[in-house]
Amino acid sequence: MKECVLGIDIGATNIAFGLVNEVGDILMEESFPTKQFEQPADFIDFILKYFKEKSDYQILGIGIGAPNGSYYTGEILNAPNLHWKGIIPLAEMFQKAFNVPTMLTNDANAAAYGEMLFGVAQNYQHFTTVTLGTGLGSGIVMNREIIYGAHGIAGEYGHIRVVHNGRKCKCGRLGCLETYVSATGVVRSIQELPSENKVNSKLMKLEKPKAESVFKLAKEGDLFAIEIIEFTAETLGNALADFAAFSDPEAYVLFGGIAQSGEGFANKVKAYMEKNILDIYQNRIEVKISSLHDRNAAVLGTAASIYLELEKEENQ
Ligand SMILES: [Zn+2]
Repeated sequence: MKECVLGIDIGATNIAFGLVNEVGDILMEESFPTKQFEQPADFIDFILKYFKEKSDYQILGIGIGAPNGSYYTGEILNAPNLHWKGIIPLAEMFQKAFNVPTMLTNDANAAAYGEMLFGVAQNYQHFTTVTLGTGLGSGIVMNREIIYGAHGIAGEYGHIRVVHNGRKCKCGRLGCLETYVSATGVVRSIQELPSENKVNSKLMKLEKPKAESVFKLAKEGDLFAIEIIEFTAETLGNALADFAAFSDPEAYVLFGGIAQSGEGFANKVKAYMEKNILDIYQNRIEVKISSLHDRNAAVLGTAASIYLELEKEENQ
């Protein structure tokens, strides 16, 4: 029997899960539309049946990542984007069904666990992951522990306000980092960033431009697209310069579509960070790109979360 853990990533659209061994090989992975499971119990029944037929694997533990997932209680707390409503004690439900240790966390923290065990952060004690997707998520690691805070929700860097009276955020406040630095933020910049280069930009002619369109056109030399990327990198670099003052990390690890666009973006972010950082931190913090992009990072992250938890229990 092959020893492994089960990593499950619950998203609003899809649920991905996979079996991962201790060196980070994904032994199998699957993905299903979340809507296929009317209630959480239907999903657990499905997974139980699914693995009954795969008895050559021994599952040592289960790590789950979910929006609004609380590490402390193991519950999904009123996730606005999920069709499963209310408070769902998912960790307990899985623990009862499989009879193995189970833990739940949110997706941004799962990304940090993945980098720590299987990615570019294996040799760091202190680092922060910044996930650039529809929004901006972050996971803060100090002494190889995720910082959860008093209520389990520390590290919401996406909602730190970086521009006074800036762009309106979906949280209701103005100027949050994620309204500038995220796929959505980059698209907003097409409309909202004032520039003389707008008139001649191909971006203005696209019906539904995406963040990728900006990176693609910038490569082709479109001046407005280049300006948007510069502005996005500057806004993030500036913010990371200030965030260094709370956590003094060895590195920031960038993850997600925008970060994936190439080394160039991370280097720009690093340059703006260095330009604006307090001198005591200067030239001491790296900006890295995740090494898990071409693999199922969500499954690896949730699997890593339970491996690290099992390791902690063993050491106690
Ligand atoms: Zn906000």
